[in-house]
Amino acid sequence: MYKKVDAKILAQLRAIVGAQNVIVDGEALEPYTHDETVGLRADPEVVVKVENAGQVSQIMKLASRELIPVVPRAGGYGLSGGAVATCGGIVLSVEKMNRILEIDKDNLMVTVEPGVITGDLHRAVEAEGLFYPPDPASLDSCCIGGNIAEGAGGPRAVKYGTTKDYVCGLEAVLPNGETIQLGGKLVKNVTGYSLLQLLIGSEGTLAVVTRVILRLLPLPKLRVDLLVPYDDFSAAARTVSDIIRRRVVPTAIEFMERDIVQACEALTGEKAPYRQAAAQLLITIDGNHQEQIDADMETVAEACLKNGALDVLVARDRPTSDRLWKARRLIIEAINHACPVNHMEDVVVPRSRIPALLTGIREIAAQHGVRIWNFGHAGDGNVHVTILKDDLDEGTWERVVPAAREAIYGLVLSLGGQLTAEHGIGATRREYLTMAVGEAQVEMMRRIKQAFDPHNVLNPAKVLP
Ligand SMILES: Cc1cc2nc3c(=O)[nH]c(=O)nc-3n(C[C@H](O)[C@H](O)[C@H](O)COP(=O)(O)OP(=O)(O)OC[C@H]3O[C@@H](n4cnc5c(N)ncnc54)[C@H](O)[C@@H]3O)c2cc1C
Repeated sequence: MYKKVDAKILAQLRAIVGAQNVIVDGEALEPYTHDETVGLRADPEVVVKVENAGQVSQIMKLASRELIPVVPRAGGYGLSGGAVATCGGIVLSVEKMNRILEIDKDNLMVTVEPGVITGDLHRAVEAEGLFYPPDPASLDSCCIGGNIAEGAGGPRAVKYGTTKDYVCGLEAVLPNGETIQLGGKLVKNVTGYSLLQLLIGSEGTLAVVTRVILRLLPLPKLRVDLLVPYDDFSAAARTVSDIIRRRVVPTAIEFMERDIVQACEALTGEKAPYRQAAAQLLITIDGNHQEQIDADMETVAEACLKNGALDVLVARDRPTSDRLWKARRLIIEAINHACPVNHMEDVVVPRSRIPALLTGIREIAAQHGVRIWNFGHAGDGNVHVTILKDDLDEGTWERVVPAAREAIYGLVLSLGGQLTAEHGIGATRREYLTMAVGEAQVEMMRRIKQAFDPHNVLNPAKVLP
């Protein structure tokens, strides 16, 4: 059993970080009782805002000695409850560790603290003609620490991959308080098992990340966005694999159904083009040579029209592109606005199976008598399947969600997919981990957790069933 945070522990925490960085009273604690997962809340006993790795180390030593849960937290914009203190204890916030320490133009690397907001990092490196591709739609609220812990992706993952493809070095504090340095400004490194890659996507359960070295690319000079409406959702889905089959790798291929487009309109008050279309694809192509962009655009447009697109709208200037992407980035907010009680999944299938996935989800919605809205990173096979409560009574909702979830997971696994592409297992999917990966893998994960955190104080009751 865990120990409660008592007056003696609070005094020790204040001695480590200063009284101004220790929060215990109700109103100030409220923002830390939840992340962006609908319906999940838990009160931490205390929130501690750290300013450096030394403080993190002292807190972890104290927590391990006294058996107090510690939940690392960055932007608090997660969608699986990872930063929620479901066992009470200390929320360890890295929000004050928000400095970009160095943009190293000789090595094309940037060194940051974990509380840097992802969008701020984008703007800082872009001002130097450099590019950090991972772009979760939450980029103006989430932080690099959270992105690393979740292995975050984003629309540009189709061409550029996800967070794990850019992390070259990490400083991290282990649950026993020891600080380790993993990797460095190294493009290649196979010195022993990659603990660095193990920490990426470990959801704050193995170590607290306190410093990060990320690889950068030259900023692409040219970009074009295409908005492609369809009067049949499965034609939009088919287009995705057809584009890939034609050996063009766009930067992003995003998918939205009509109800979601209209929910965005309702939120922003701005009319969307082709608002009545059954589904839309938003496709980005970037590069440095106009001829290549034009050739790729022609191939993509051909694939879209051959698969039944109603039109291919081209946004060549930045304001038009920004308008299209603004609506895309607001989708989750728009869904919450349209239906505040909902349940979002984050499934992933091979890209060629997206038509089968979307058709299967329609059948599941009909079988369970619920509305399900779909959108997401179709170019990665990653669809955010969102079940809406609408006017179902509480009892029905409590019954329908687990039943529909199991049906969705069963479908996804039968298509060669997995439960979550980027939002993580966290607190909300851990009961399904064994179903997804099998007992042998869960047992290996348990042993890894035990090796890092023998007292189970770092983000307990997350990931593992
Ligand atoms: C509107 C919206 C759009 C989104 N779009 C995307 C998207 O396109 N792609 C995507 O991948 N995700 C997306 N997300 C999910 C979410 O934003 C990402 O998972 C993001 O990486 C979370 O970062 P955060 O800083 O908010 O982390 P938090 O919510 O604070 O924490 C997330 C996890 O990281 C751990 N953690 C935080 N800091 C550290 C640290 N320093 N060391 C160790 N562990 C730590 C926490 O314990 C927790 O388990 C979206 C969310 C919303 C609300």
